Amino acid sequence: MQQFQFYSAASLGDALGFLAEKGDRTRVLAGGTDLVPALREELFRPGFVLNVLEIAELNGVREEGRVLRIGSTTTHAQLAESDLLKKFCPSLAQAAGLIGGPLIRNRGTIGGNLANASPAADLAPPLLSLDAEAVLLSRRGTRVVPLRDFFLGPGKTVLQPDELLTEITIPRPRGTGVFLKLGRRQAMTLSVVSVAVSLELEKGRCQEARIALGSVAPTPVRCPGAEAMLRDREMDWELIAQSAREAMAASRPVDDQRAKAWYRLQAGTVLVRRALARAAGLPPGDGS
Ligand SMILES: Cc1cc2nc3c(=O)[nH]c(=O)nc-3n(C[C@H](O)[C@H](O)[C@H](O)COP(=O)(O)OP(=O)(O)OC[C@H]3O[C@@H](n4cnc5c(N)ncnc54)[C@H](O)[C@@H]3O)c2cc1C
Repeated sequence: MQQFQFYSAASLGDALGFLAEKGDRTRVLAGGTDLVPALREELFRPGFVLNVLEIAELNGVREEGRVLRIGSTTTHAQLAESDLLKKFCPSLAQAAGLIGGPLIRNRGTIGGNLANASPAADLAPPLLSLDAEAVLLSRRGTRVVPLRDFFLGPGKTVLQPDELLTEITIPRPRGTGVFLKLGRRQAMTLSVVSVAVSLELEKGRCQEARIALGSVAPTPVRCPGAEAMLRDREMDWELIAQSAREAMAASRPVDDQRAKAWYRLQAGTVLVRRALARAAGLPPGDGS
């Protein structure tokens, strides 16, 4: 393991002060499930590692007015077990419950999952489909960035060296949501494709649809064309199949060690179809 100075921030002000002074030479540490392997492999050579897990106000899920606020150090296990999320954001709770295994879910955090900016980050599609925003704090002030503008590419976000991701906010959804993930095995696996949908329905008619994909482009993506096809339409198998094909137009899959691009396209189409049908309450049948 390489040499660096470790500092554990006691408060938010303490962490922001540290980053204001030394942010350009610092890596923030939350659960460490991405950062520690990267430090071992010397992918980064920071002078300082700043632990933020001791900052109590960064942890937890709460409701404030019509907004759900999730602290950046909230773990996947906490998300999966949150009654608020199970009720209002089931796709996010489902995604968190499918990450890694129990040990990873107890350590890994929502902030780390997003700031690491892997195209395969499982929390990104549900949060994109929920119109989530990232709250970034620094000594200079607060920035609220829609999650769809947060990712710049693999491993790259809009976070500046002196900024800390403190919270994710979600306008309380009116409809329902579904998350589906395909990996190379059932558990402890990164996604080959992941899909999240949020649907608002009235008497079987779609009022609002939001669809997001993971692992099929340099960043997680929304599917505006497919969403527009569904709005103000009766949800049936034919429309769902059309929308699922259109959704993949937002993708730019590549071949990698987990899957070929053509397979991601085909599997993604099936997953979007299944997620939409499940969210619309259509019984599994020929169309699934
Ligand atoms: C065995 C294994 C299985 C896994 N399975 C999955 C899986 O199925 N799905 C999946 O999506 N991921 C998976 N992961 C990846 C990982 O667990 C997640 O991405 C995790 O959520 C990262 O969170 P963390 O708290 O551990 O982040 P850390 O490792 O502490 O940090 C990750 C990055 O984010 C930065 N960072 C962290 N917090 C902040 C903050 N508040 N502000 C600014 N920057 C910050 C760090 O500087 C670092 O660059 C797996 C990892 C392992 C080792």
